[in-house]
Amino acid sequence: MKKTLIYILLAATFAGCARCPASTDAPLIGISSGTDGYNVSLGGNYPVAVAKAGGIPVVIPVIKDEQAAQMLMSRLDGLILSGGEDVNPAYYGEEVLNASVSFNAVRDTSDFLLIKAAHSQGKPILGICRGHQIVNVAFGGSLYQDIPTQIGTEHRQNVSGIPRHKVGLEPGSRIRSLLGDADSVSTNSHHHQSVKEPAPGFSVTARAADGVVEASEGPGAFCVQFHPEALVADGEESFLAIFTAFIEDCRR
Ligand code: MN
Repeated sequence: MKKTLIYILLAATFAGCARCPASTDAPLIGISSGTDGYNVSLGGNYPVAVAKAGGIPVVIPVIKDEQAAQMLMSRLDGLILSGGEDVNPAYYGEEVLNASVSFNAVRDTSDFLLIKAAHSQGKPILGICRGHQIVNVAFGGSLYQDIPTQIGTEHRQNVSGIPRHKVGLEPGSRIRSLLGDADSVSTNSHHHQSVKEPAPGFSVTARAADGVVEASEGPGAFCVQFHPEALVADGEESFLAIFTAFIEDCRR
């Protein structure tokens, strides 16, 4: 009887380890989410990629209060801004360009509060897709509101699978060192907007063939326009390096 119990406990322990590689010093990684006014909305690939890279994912529902954002970030080790709607162009001093622009005021407020709290506390920031765009705006940059109208190309393809596009990687950049020091990589693309004027202190480190900014790096923040979490979910392990490097930063 006793032996059976021990075997069950051992089996449960090993099963648990296989599913969740979290170590005792695993950083707590906040992940922003969206809302339809009631439900928390976030694709499941983000928490899976964080856990796979050695972090403990903490999904953050939209938040309205600055003090709450500060308290929350004080308990977390890093912040991922996830994908979602467009950013209200009023935040970079522009009128809405056309009917294709669709934003969520509640989410904009929440993301700005989280970015401000993380940055003021020196916690690393990883921006993905909309996350890239809102980080750029939060630090003083601007966006193309509608890529098809303003650039004449289409980047709303698929989060995973094909079609995809090539992304040229800047020599000496962090993204290039993380992705095997290649001149370019093939990525997914599922975005309506992109960085226009990079925020002061930020460098553009990857571009698509049409010039669309696909990655930027600034003090305490690293951003990509594509979806590495979906590529990892599709078995493209090379993109996990974006998460493992971020989680290493969050340990410090
Ligand atoms: Mn793209």
